[in-house]
Amino acid sequence: MLEPSTPVQYVKGIGPRIAEILAAKGLATADDLLHYLPFRYEDRVNPRGIAELRAGEMATVIAEVRTSGLFRTRRMPIFQMTAGQGRARLKCIWFNAAYLKDKFQPGQMLALYGRVEENRGELQLVQPQFEILGEAEGDGAEQKAAESLEIGRIVPIYESAGQGKLTSRWFRRTIRTALENLTPELPESIPAAVRKRLDLMPSRQALWKVHWPDEGESFQDLQASRTQAHIRLIFEELFFIELGLELKRREQKAQTGVAFRLNDQVREAIKKILPFHPTGAQKRTLKEIAADMEKPYPMRRLLQGDVGSGKTLVAFEAAIIAIENGYQVALMAPTEILAQQHYFSARQILEPSGYRIVLLTGSLEEDRKREIRRHIAHGNAQLVIGTHALIEQKVEFEKLGLVIVDEQHRFGVLQRFKLMKKSGEANKNGFGETGTLAGQSEGHLGTSALGGQSKGRVGTDIPVRPAERSSATSTEPDVLVMTATPIPRTLALTLYGDLDISVLDEMPPGRTPIVTRRVGDERADEVWQFVRKQVSTGHQAYVVYPVIEENEETEIKAAMKMYSELSKKIFPDLNVAVLHGRMEPDLKEQVMRPFQRGKIQILVSTTVIEVGVDVPNAAVMVVEHAERFGLAQLHQLRGRIGRGAAKSYCILMTSGKVSEEAERRLDAMVRTTDGFQIAELDLEMRGPGEFFGTRQAGMPSFQVANLIRDRDLLELAKKEAAAVLSGPNSEISQTEIDRALRHMRTRWQKTYGLVEVG
Ligand code: ADP
Ligand code: MG
Repeated sequence: MLEPSTPVQYVKGIGPRIAEILAAKGLATADDLLHYLPFRYEDRVNPRGIAELRAGEMATVIAEVRTSGLFRTRRMPIFQMTAGQGRARLKCIWFNAAYLKDKFQPGQMLALYGRVEENRGELQLVQPQFEILGEAEGDGAEQKAAESLEIGRIVPIYESAGQGKLTSRWFRRTIRTALENLTPELPESIPAAVRKRLDLMPSRQALWKVHWPDEGESFQDLQASRTQAHIRLIFEELFFIELGLELKRREQKAQTGVAFRLNDQVREAIKKILPFHPTGAQKRTLKEIAADMEKPYPMRRLLQGDVGSGKTLVAFEAAIIAIENGYQVALMAPTEILAQQHYFSARQILEPSGYRIVLLTGSLEEDRKREIRRHIAHGNAQLVIGTHALIEQKVEFEKLGLVIVDEQHRFGVLQRFKLMKKSGEANKNGFGETGTLAGQSEGHLGTSALGGQSKGRVGTDIPVRPAERSSATSTEPDVLVMTATPIPRTLALTLYGDLDISVLDEMPPGRTPIVTRRVGDERADEVWQFVRKQVSTGHQAYVVYPVIEENEETEIKAAMKMYSELSKKIFPDLNVAVLHGRMEPDLKEQVMRPFQRGKIQILVSTTVIEVGVDVPNAAVMVVEHAERFGLAQLHQLRGRIGRGAAKSYCILMTSGKVSEEAERRLDAMVRTTDGFQIAELDLEMRGPGEFFGTRQAGMPSFQVANLIRDRDLLELAKKEAAAVLSGPNSEISQTEIDRALRHMRTRWQKTYGLVEVG
């Protein structure tokens, strides 16, 4: 009998070589293989007669090869085959398909699937997918048995693997055999009450049915992954993810945090700094944050707000609450430029109230860094601003109460969990006890990553309120994560499911919407003239170049070349400067400072300006090679302008032929400036995996679920996970909860290598 945990290598029909191919697909165990679901189905119960086909439909046809051959046209080789059913004929063509030359023999039976098109009054299948079902004559008994998996039923179609080595047909047979040998006792880990409420079928039955649907199954439901069998498997996966996230949330809340006081003195202090009337959204989110901060357990909150929505102000207000309560605050930015900018605005806004602020950047002299660290350790510095990397390196705080992470759109839940794990290890090595922030090298503070580190500091060295002292074995600072990515709700539930979420959904007043235009670079002269006109009215402009990672060197060269052309030939009379990622930090600053002060009119830049730079007087942005940027990135870039009262212009310049997908991105940019709309579209176009820049983003990868398709089930899974953790009660027993948690841990461990959850 086959156990789900058996390595695939020992599944019948698989050896070490094939196991390797499967491993590359992420299929390690029999269970993984069984969850390798068909991406579509073919209805071969009643295969279509050629005579009844209609133009425009997708159809499965079972027919016999009659003739085939390769034709070379001037533009490309075309492979043609004529398939027959009795006297009916159907022409099939494949473009650019010399590889099919010797593929078919007359008399072979084929299953063909593709779009039916009409060409000069004749129907044909264009580029159909096909499967050779066997020879028409001379069938042995064995052949017949094999064929019964291919014809006369609804047939599952799998994505092939190993560059076509493992075909759909191979998966069909191998998975079939695995199902036949599968142990009859698959334990149920989803509590019975939940299964009953949602009417979930047993998991063994669900596995059979997704691979080998019953004849009567709705074909539409099958293609949409909405049969009861699909729902069972998808729900199960989402349920255990949500269970892990929910548990994490609850654990975090069970820890001891600082109960900040929000009295009139603090309120006055906040009022004093406000340079403008906060928007309604800013007020609301601050309220949510403040309510968290007052509670005796650590805050874990995400502040989500489109670029320019005014997150910084909210962050500063939160900082004041902590500082007025006698605690220190760390503000971490993803880049040095941003850290500098935060420092710059912090000094403007907070220093008049007498708060002591330090900036800790890599470009500082060693001596100076040491001095600053000393200030931090002695509690002289109240607000510490720096890059993630810098603050994480062994900075010792006297009394850290709040950590603000300005992460823009970089990190998801997995990264946070991984870092937590890492910091756990670091603690064991003794870092933690010294009260530093050591142990996170990847640039993001996991939520409880900070936990152990402030241990032994908060609550021992410093006088604290008695209530705290008594429980102050380990006090966790509050954590506020800020992100500029408008995240569709389903994604937020998964990526940030361990955090509470506040949304800044209102722009500060007085913004004029940005006008976005798309032009081909043959009109560059006009564009530069327009830029000149705008600059002459006192505004500043960005000219942005894409940097494609593998090729940063050449791209920077291109940017430099353009810079020299712009500065020498096109705008010789203006102040033009250049900024890119490879510049030394102090050189960057030598450019950003004067740009911020309006001394530089045109800033030629790679995408280093993407994150958070705030220069309200910059009202024009020209993006070169706009077709190369992703949608989210274009949106982030555009967020650099439209920050002042002046009308702003974003010009997306393209060069050469633009792909259809790029066309859709550019079109979306021209049509809307709404970050959520853009995010939804981006998610749809790229899928969740790519949405945040692939794996980097710490997006859980799914076996069977698809976040776009399965939004409804995700909400359901979240609800049920919360219900389970609220037990035991009359519905759910402690034993069931324990079993679910055990299963969840195994899953998380296996998929993400995380020991931390739970
Ligand atoms: P982001 O959310 O992208 O970090 P910022 O915090 O940089 O946005 O704010 C964008 C701009 O809006 C800044 O110039 C800031 O001073 C300004 N701003 C923020 N809040 C308000 C407000 N309530 N009224 C007017 N301007 C505001
Ligand atoms: Mg910002």
